[in-house]
Amino acid sequence: HKYVYDFSEGNKDLKDLLGGKGANLAEMTNLGLPVPPGFTITTEACKAYLATGQQPDGLAGQIEAHLESLERAMGKRLGDPQDPLLVSVRSGAKFSMPGMMETVLNVGLNDQSVVGLSAQAGGNDRFAWDSYRRLIQMFGKTVCEVPGEEFEHALDEAKSAKGTHNDLDLDADDLRGLVDAYKKIFLKHTGREFPQQPREQLDLAIRAVFESWNAERAILYRRQERIPTDLGTAVNVVTMVFGNLGPDSGTGVAFTRDPASGAQGIYGDYLANAQGEDVVAGIRNTVPLQELEQLDKTSYDQLLGIMARLEEHYKDLCDIEFTIERGKLWMLQTRVGKRTAAAAFVIAGQLVDEGLIDLDEALHRVNGAQLAQLMFPRFQLDHEFQPVAKGIGASPGAASGTVVFTSARAVEMAAEGKSVILVRRETNPDDLNGMIAAQGILTSRGGKTSHAAVVARGMGKTCVSGADEIEVNVPAKRFTVAGQTVNEGDVVSIDGTTGKVYLGEVPVMPSEVVQYFEGSLDPEHIDNALVRAVHRIMTHADGKRRLAVRTNADTGADAARARRFGAEGIGLCRTEHMFLGDRRELVERLILARAPGEREAALEALLPLQRADFEEIFREMDGLPVTVRLIDPPLHEFLPPLEQLAVNVAVAQERGEDVAKEEALLAAVRRMHEENPMLGLRGVRLGLVIPGLFAMQVRAIAEAAVACARGGGVAKPEIMVPLVGAVQELETVRAEAEKIIAEVVGDSGVEVLIGTMIEVPRAALTAGQIAEAAEFFSFGTNDLTQMGWGFSRDDVEGAFFWRYLELGIFGISPFESIDRDGVGRLVRIAAEEGRAARPGLKLGVCGEHGGDPDSVHFFHEVGLDYVSCSPFRVPVARLEAGRAVV
Ligand code: PEP
Ligand code: MG
Repeated sequence: HKYVYDFSEGNKDLKDLLGGKGANLAEMTNLGLPVPPGFTITTEACKAYLATGQQPDGLAGQIEAHLESLERAMGKRLGDPQDPLLVSVRSGAKFSMPGMMETVLNVGLNDQSVVGLSAQAGGNDRFAWDSYRRLIQMFGKTVCEVPGEEFEHALDEAKSAKGTHNDLDLDADDLRGLVDAYKKIFLKHTGREFPQQPREQLDLAIRAVFESWNAERAILYRRQERIPTDLGTAVNVVTMVFGNLGPDSGTGVAFTRDPASGAQGIYGDYLANAQGEDVVAGIRNTVPLQELEQLDKTSYDQLLGIMARLEEHYKDLCDIEFTIERGKLWMLQTRVGKRTAAAAFVIAGQLVDEGLIDLDEALHRVNGAQLAQLMFPRFQLDHEFQPVAKGIGASPGAASGTVVFTSARAVEMAAEGKSVILVRRETNPDDLNGMIAAQGILTSRGGKTSHAAVVARGMGKTCVSGADEIEVNVPAKRFTVAGQTVNEGDVVSIDGTTGKVYLGEVPVMPSEVVQYFEGSLDPEHIDNALVRAVHRIMTHADGKRRLAVRTNADTGADAARARRFGAEGIGLCRTEHMFLGDRRELVERLILARAPGEREAALEALLPLQRADFEEIFREMDGLPVTVRLIDPPLHEFLPPLEQLAVNVAVAQERGEDVAKEEALLAAVRRMHEENPMLGLRGVRLGLVIPGLFAMQVRAIAEAAVACARGGGVAKPEIMVPLVGAVQELETVRAEAEKIIAEVVGDSGVEVLIGTMIEVPRAALTAGQIAEAAEFFSFGTNDLTQMGWGFSRDDVEGAFFWRYLELGIFGISPFESIDRDGVGRLVRIAAEEGRAARPGLKLGVCGEHGGDPDSVHFFHEVGLDYVSCSPFRVPVARLEAGRAVV
């Protein structure tokens, strides 16, 4: 079994096996770029190790062989006392998990080789001892779980003994002393001396990287990002190059385009005389990459050349890490870079213009989740709000919330339902919980590539980083800015696009992309790269997609908005929403009716109101199909709750008031009480039990359609019966409805379809029979999931889904994204058997899944005609329906 690959043996398509970092290092090596030599231990080795706790057979020997050939290539031996080869041991999973797993640098240093390193570095003692103390620190913390603060504390002590705040002021002797202190700390916590054998260091470091796959923060990150738990990480063993050898050395990160806006240009940060970790941690402030041109023009030009080459090769935005060791440039990493949602669209458009990709590929490169993000509202700023600070717009969005300073507090307050802004000097992987809980993240240090920025972008959370006018005092729970003090509990607003920070709560307005969808921004006539890119890609998606997209809407206003967003009809109009407000009383009368006359009177009063509702909706959806669902929920939902009513009656009786009416109501509520109302008297069952109810609704629909037609419009009503489980139910409703329709429409030319929801498993399994009585099916995947899994849709998410997610029983709630294997199978069966019984049967979906990207792909695959979703999801569904085709 081959567990170890030299960089020259891999390529970018081997990410499963070599991880992202290893695969791309191999790719760069094969492109002839200056990559420090090294090798990659596969994810398979990691998985085998994690399964058994032992290195798999053969791994040790393969590492030995690759190490030997590395030593031959470099003409140095690992940890050689005179001229040591040093290596870094780096994690690298298939999907990037920034800062979540471990890295150990400078492996191969010990009490002897530190002297050799110094000699090789031209007698640079300071550098050698600094490298050694970094090794003990990283190795101790990562491999042996020595508390990191102890090392930091010792470092602080060394600095204060020297009377400085700056690491760079510590000289070789100070650092030698620090190494001694670190070794003592190591001994105290591990009960053993710091290992002096280079190969032992290497093996332990490799093991620690394997194990870091299961570190708590890594598990949490994967859950958040929906990264499968069983991939494992690869381990890269890479020849060390040093950015901290003096002023002609340094390290940096760069993007080939702006990862926030997509704009072309040079985006990166550089830090002279430093190691890579210093940049990512945002500990010292970096300078813009452009300044490297002054410092080292040769390396700068070479770097720009390599960046252009990488973009052309990957045909995408790349991010890179590099180090300059005494004027020689080394590439330490590249990958197709993370980007904001806006940048994803803009860059896809640019790459089409540049001829690097076609529009189908552009459609691949963006997704519905990104589009949804671009539809977030923005701050509405007037003179009243002046920014108090400006940092870097690290992850876009507009967030207001209560200031908190610790991850724990963020979690606590979010649990109370508060919107919070986590304010930190800089974040580190331990802040992950707080970042998840927060609405937004504000840091006073760190650039676009700092931990806060990278993680927030990944999570789609608003983040402003490096707002250095802000003085954060975590212990005192406050920050000061522009002469003002902001305490925990105060409200601030942050704009992740502009990087501006405001005190107080700033009101919000629709985003540009929403304005475009609303029709108030014309992409042909405005100079806005994002809107133009969205327009272009959406147009392409619309041209490609086979699925139609409808909306779920119950009001004229929603219908109109959804239509502007591109809805091609209504897939679900829930009529029960029309029974609320001041109509509740009429519904009450209907429910309480004792004699047929009373019931008819109540229905007659409701009829014109319903008709007016439908007329408005048909008008807004003129020419497009409108699926109106007959009333679905149990009627007692329209009555006051039992307990409250009982108390009211008791109190009124006590006071000697006349309670005859309330008593009647109470009796009705008692009569209608159900232990399990979701499986009780609702949907078609109501229509069969309460005379005249469905008839009234059918009449209202038909009359509204006729009124529309008379007014010159085109109404296309589709009457939908909910909760059908047997064809006989549908046939009964249908017979009555057809009579009314025939009577109402006469020769008006109006055509009314009658169909059913498929939301009870039995309906899916007898779809062939049901199709005989239905002109269309609409899958109610909310109830189909509820009844398919037996999960109460109103209770389970908060009650126990967290545990199911934790155990990996499913990776995402089946109410959010369709369960392809189970509920999806019911959909597939019903679609096939329904169409077999009635060719041309119209099929759609109107559960929440209709607006979920992954589910849209599934509905495309099973051959539905349309999806229907809430107005705001309509553009997302259009985009994903297009993506499902290309
Ligand atoms: C469904 O069950 O999926 C559906 C659309 O109906 P409702 O959500 O109203 O029960
Ligand atoms: Mg339903």
